[in-house]
Amino acid sequence: MTLNSRITQQILIAIAIGLVLACVIAGAGIVAQNALRIASAPTLTPTPKPTASRTATRAATSIPTTTFTPAITQTPTASPTPAPTLGPTRTPKPAVQHLFIDRPVAIAAIGNSPSRNYLFGTTRSGELDVHHGEEFENATGTPVFSVADGTVVVAGNDEQPLCGDNSRSPCGRNLQPDGFYGNLIVIQLARTYRNQRIFALYGHLNAIDVTVGRNLIVGDVLGEIGQTGIALGPHVHFEVRVGVNDYAHTRNPILWMIPLAGRGALAGRYADAKNVLVQGAPIKIYRDDGTYVGETETYSRDKFAAVVSDDEMGENFAFPDLPAGDYVIKVDGTQFAAKATIEEGKLTFVDLGGM
Ligand SMILES: [Zn+2]
Repeated sequence: MTLNSRITQQILIAIAIGLVLACVIAGAGIVAQNALRIASAPTLTPTPKPTASRTATRAATSIPTTTFTPAITQTPTASPTPAPTLGPTRTPKPAVQHLFIDRPVAIAAIGNSPSRNYLFGTTRSGELDVHHGEEFENATGTPVFSVADGTVVVAGNDEQPLCGDNSRSPCGRNLQPDGFYGNLIVIQLARTYRNQRIFALYGHLNAIDVTVGRNLIVGDVLGEIGQTGIALGPHVHFEVRVGVNDYAHTRNPILWMIPLAGRGALAGRYADAKNVLVQGAPIKIYRDDGTYVGETETYSRDKFAAVVSDDEMGENFAFPDLPAGDYVIKVDGTQFAAKATIEEGKLTFVDLGGM
């Protein structure tokens, strides 16, 4: 064998090894991609490479800021680590903490957490009106309690105009022949938020045990759950209102309620490339091992009166009472996702999409 033919042979062997390696790497890549895909996740699409300027959200402060690897368990592979399920994230806003009100029902009640079927700002995928409160579903007769120290400012049936600063405005979106909230109570909290009054509303009550002007301490019994007004079943419709006691000033109660033991609250913001909040987008929540936990929608536009984002957070979705731990929050059908660490007794904020 001549020197030339030996070199040629070595080159051919090298090419053959290269082809085999390429196939193995490609195959491993496919396996890795499948392992990384969360149920119903979008097809993997190229995303911008992480840059040093990226920072994790506050919720994910334990995550290195320059290595945005997916939250799901990684399969060792020779291919470069893809990071397709985490979309762009930006400098986070501080996670505002004003979780200081109690629940409107006992912690021991069956429905001690907001119903996931109709969370604040959602429409059940367009089936229902935009929801201005949270539902605590419990049997008729279940007592409701004062969520904080305060004073009763409304106690009656909203076939009459009872709300607003003059107590003569509709409590709901308008006056309806059969009422909207039915029998309701509104309390004004003793404490304020940024010099604004805070109100808590209890709707669809079966019985009212207090009168206007009554001073309350947290935990006082106010009445009992029913299904008066527009209610499909027994529950208390619970609202937080900031500034003015009317339908146009509702805020998400999840941002205000003390989480259940061992749990924390999640809030987030999903905006488009022009930084406009996206409405009615499906948000899915997974544990970091890929286990599905729950879902909600970003706030939809209400033609009667918009639901209002928090003054400081500017959120457009929230989810209550998640067990402490690590999560991945995804906008279903898009590449936008973020990691979130839920801490007991705290609110975690995630930023998805936008500029
Ligand atoms: Zn409701």
